[in-house]
Amino acid sequence: MQALVYHGPGIKALEERPDPILKDATDAIVRITKTTICGTDLHIMKGDVPTVTAGRILGHEGVGIVEQVGGSVSNVAIGDHVLISCISSCGRCSNCKAGMYSHCENGGGWILGNLIDGTQAELVRIPFADHSLYPIPSGTDEEALVMLSDILPTGFECGVLSGAIRPGDSVAIVGGGPIGLATLLTARFYSPAEVIVVDVDDNRLEVAKTFGATWVVNNSDGQAVERVMALTGNRGVDVAIEAIGQAAAFDICQAIVTAGGHIANIGVHGKPVQLNLDKLWSHNITLTTRLVDTVSTRMLMKSVVAGKLQPARLITHRFALTEVMKAYDTFGQAKEERALKVILTNE
Ligand code: ZN
Ligand code: ZN
Repeated sequence: MQALVYHGPGIKALEERPDPILKDATDAIVRITKTTICGTDLHIMKGDVPTVTAGRILGHEGVGIVEQVGGSVSNVAIGDHVLISCISSCGRCSNCKAGMYSHCENGGGWILGNLIDGTQAELVRIPFADHSLYPIPSGTDEEALVMLSDILPTGFECGVLSGAIRPGDSVAIVGGGPIGLATLLTARFYSPAEVIVVDVDDNRLEVAKTFGATWVVNNSDGQAVERVMALTGNRGVDVAIEAIGQAAAFDICQAIVTAGGHIANIGVHGKPVQLNLDKLWSHNITLTTRLVDTVSTRMLMKSVVAGKLQPARLITHRFALTEVMKAYDTFGQAKEERALKVILTNE
């Protein structure tokens, strides 16, 4: 089969690899129909994720058709259309039972396209298939569901739920990429009074407006804090969401959170950041961190099927899986290409 293989920082290739085979009774083999590239894959290509070793097939998002199942798989059957979760989980260990699938104690968590071969291929082996695959209701837009493998649950769980957005809140999302926009889409479930999106890319800010942002702030001149404070009558925001993974973005969140507010971190941080406890110690704030657990996947899927949530709006480019190298170039030059999410179809 054809697969996109990582060969160390900066080196990748589309190449022929052996088809995956069932290893454990809880595995399934899925034929990918649609997959995508994540910002995390770009971090891997830069060498930021040392757990990914040379020879790994990348990708942790996608939908497909079940082609083989192990002897103890009972929730999905051969021929089923399924959504692949970016988090694999046993569903039985104490962390899984507490809803913390990302910290599955039986070898699950974010392993796809990280510790085991991933979804940017014609076929993929999915461990713990019963708990890591979601049957797709017939007639559902598969491209929209690709957004539910990772970015929608990530924005919703790590941003909206951890940030505890309530009706009437003022919210700032620092970072208008796919994750920030997924947070914006799902924040609307809780009717915040206003959502401010901060980015340096005018195209992304325009998209944020069409997704329902009340205000957008271009931080190219580094004046985001002053602008957000002015927009909120110097009060600051109830919920400040970090959706980049950058010290400067976290600093903005610390400066704009109001007394009693929440800072919810979503971004992947490769370096330490400074926590300004000299200012925040008496500010009654809550700071949360989280790796997505994908506990909200079923709810999000129902919302998509019902038409209440339209994640397909995040898709800007489409390629065949065989054009994956070109797709990486486009996604890697997001600003010039005006790219949000790309869809790769295995034809
Ligand atoms: Zn991802
Ligand atoms: Zn588990």
